[in-house]
Amino acid sequence: MRNSIKRLLKGRVSGRHGSSSHENVNMETNAIKVVQATRGGIRSLFRRTDLSIRFHLIAGFILIVFFIIAADAVAVWQYWQIDAPAQRVRETDQVSDAVVRVHLDVYSFQSRMAALASGHDTRQFSTEAAAIRRSFLDRVDHAEQMLRATPDIEQDAPITEALESLRVTLLSQLDTAVRLAIAGEWNAVQLRAAIEIPALIEFSSSLVEKVDEEAQRQRTRAIEDAQKARQRFFIIVPIAALLTLLAAAALGWYVTWTITGPLSELTACAQALARGDFQHQIHLRGKNELAVLGNAFNYAAQQLQKVYEDLRLSERELRDVIEALPTMVWIAGTDGSNEFGNRRWQEYTGLSHERTVGPGWQDAVHPTDLKQHWEKWCASLASGEPFENEVRYRRADGEYRRFLSRAVPLRDEHGKILRWYGVSTDIEDRKRAEEERERLRADLAHVNRVSMLGELAASVSHELKQPIAAAMTNAKTCMRWLKRDQPDVDEALDATSRIVNDGTRATEIIERLRSLYKKSAPQRELVEVNEIIREMGELLRAEANQYAVSIRTDLAADLPKAGADRVQLQQVFMNLMLNAIEAMKETGGVLTVKTQLDENGQLLISVSDTGVGLPKEKIDQIFDAFVTTKPQGSGMGLSISRSIVESHGGHLWATANNGRGATFHFTLPTTTETLRMPATGT
Ligand code: ADP
Repeated sequence: MRNSIKRLLKGRVSGRHGSSSHENVNMETNAIKVVQATRGGIRSLFRRTDLSIRFHLIAGFILIVFFIIAADAVAVWQYWQIDAPAQRVRETDQVSDAVVRVHLDVYSFQSRMAALASGHDTRQFSTEAAAIRRSFLDRVDHAEQMLRATPDIEQDAPITEALESLRVTLLSQLDTAVRLAIAGEWNAVQLRAAIEIPALIEFSSSLVEKVDEEAQRQRTRAIEDAQKARQRFFIIVPIAALLTLLAAAALGWYVTWTITGPLSELTACAQALARGDFQHQIHLRGKNELAVLGNAFNYAAQQLQKVYEDLRLSERELRDVIEALPTMVWIAGTDGSNEFGNRRWQEYTGLSHERTVGPGWQDAVHPTDLKQHWEKWCASLASGEPFENEVRYRRADGEYRRFLSRAVPLRDEHGKILRWYGVSTDIEDRKRAEEERERLRADLAHVNRVSMLGELAASVSHELKQPIAAAMTNAKTCMRWLKRDQPDVDEALDATSRIVNDGTRATEIIERLRSLYKKSAPQRELVEVNEIIREMGELLRAEANQYAVSIRTDLAADLPKAGADRVQLQQVFMNLMLNAIEAMKETGGVLTVKTQLDENGQLLISVSDTGVGLPKEKIDQIFDAFVTTKPQGSGMGLSISRSIVESHGGHLWATANNGRGATFHFTLPTTTETLRMPATGT
């Protein structure tokens, strides 16, 4: 490196001293070619998009590092340029120093020879001469080495040759002196030292002057070179730093551009995709990561478009199905406002989509139902519980029909309700059929009641006989008291009031019978169950007596009233008590009616007997219609009783007694809620 720089310097120096400019032109041309080749290589290297981004980044980084190293090298080189003249001066000084030492040796050679010659000691002379020889040779060798190390001096002044001749001359003088000393020619030795050696001293002195002159010249030149080098340093180094910076910035920008360019295209495509534009394709050539990503993106967009198309198709199909469904389908928001109503809804209500959305759907609801329907809907919206309600919707022609409206919420993964999906099913025909069925059942129950009353007629007429006979007796007594000579009016009045009481009793019996015969719509009222039990006991007492059955009651005091239809409850008691009496027909026994409050606060009523007990083979079916074990039985009593009890919100069931007979239990709610329940009973 140092040699090559030296050579270069030398070339410059020689150029400065008039060497051919042709060489310089060649060098510059070659340098331009190298730079062009490098630049082209780098350009083509970075243009290749099949190289990975990683490669781009690494290559860019290496090039930047290379530029920095090059700039550093230029700086070092320039620094060396400043330091090189000083070095040259130092070397020249060393040469000068070495030559001066040679001169001093020559100088001391003369005095030493004179001193040794005056001693006349041959051996010492020879020994000292050998030492002087060695020392001189060392000095000369050292001086020559120094000269070789500083070729500028060597070139400008042929000092080596002068040194060589000095060495040869001094050594021959020394050899001659030694020979003369051995021969004992001490005068000759002293003479030579006095005559010959000063010529040598003069020669070496001239050599020292020459070297000094050369050194001085070198120093002057070095100072000039150093100044120029310093000036160059302050121009070249900032330029090199600036160029490095520019090159690094350009490379950085280029590498960034090779990444951000495709990236911005990818971003544009992603945004287009987000807008639903699946046609947007990425056009990235090559095989680098971004190109691969672009291809994957294009593929994903194609697949997405396919999926989207499929989805749209299936959504359209689903919408067609929803539109074509023979039931009303609707979608509502979380605030209960309508978002969609299918074709069936629009056709039925005659309301367009625009008139239905939001709160518009309420126009189709029957004004009477609206408040209750809206409250129930709001309760579901608030609780998130599925919605279900019966409501009347107005048809386009103005007629109202009943619908069962149901809705369930759609939730996200966190359970948050997004919207409600609902269906409204027309239940008008079903409702009418149910009502017809209920009416028929009521008729059947009435027929059942009347047929039972037919059976009761005999005993009831016996019951009626008593107040009528008593009234007759009291009437006769009254007449007797009045026919006296002195009519006893007070007694007659007593008899008359007894007649009135008897008449009232008979009227009451007839009224009870009449209420059972009467076919009226069910009516809920607050009734005292204990009172109905007492009435039915009175009514059936004659029938019970006929079969030696005694009726007992075990009624809890202060029972709350039940919201019930009085006549329907009478019918239940009559069915259960007549069945009990019939079960004890052959044997007689005890019929016990008990009331109490159960643990749920409901009325619990039981009718038990000591009769034949429940039929074992039909124990599960006795509550079914037309199931009977009696030759003349209709099998409707228990079925009707159960439907009445259940329509009141209670339950009816039967258990076998531990001893003889069976017990029938039923519950009745005591709350006033039952009053508000829709009447569905007989
Ligand atoms: P019916 O009395 O016309 O047979 P019900 O529906 O009242 O119809 O009774 C159905 C059947 O239940 C009766 O035929 C009878 O077998 C049975 N049953 C009802 N009450 C009693 C009872 N107290 N003891 C025993 N069996 C009964």
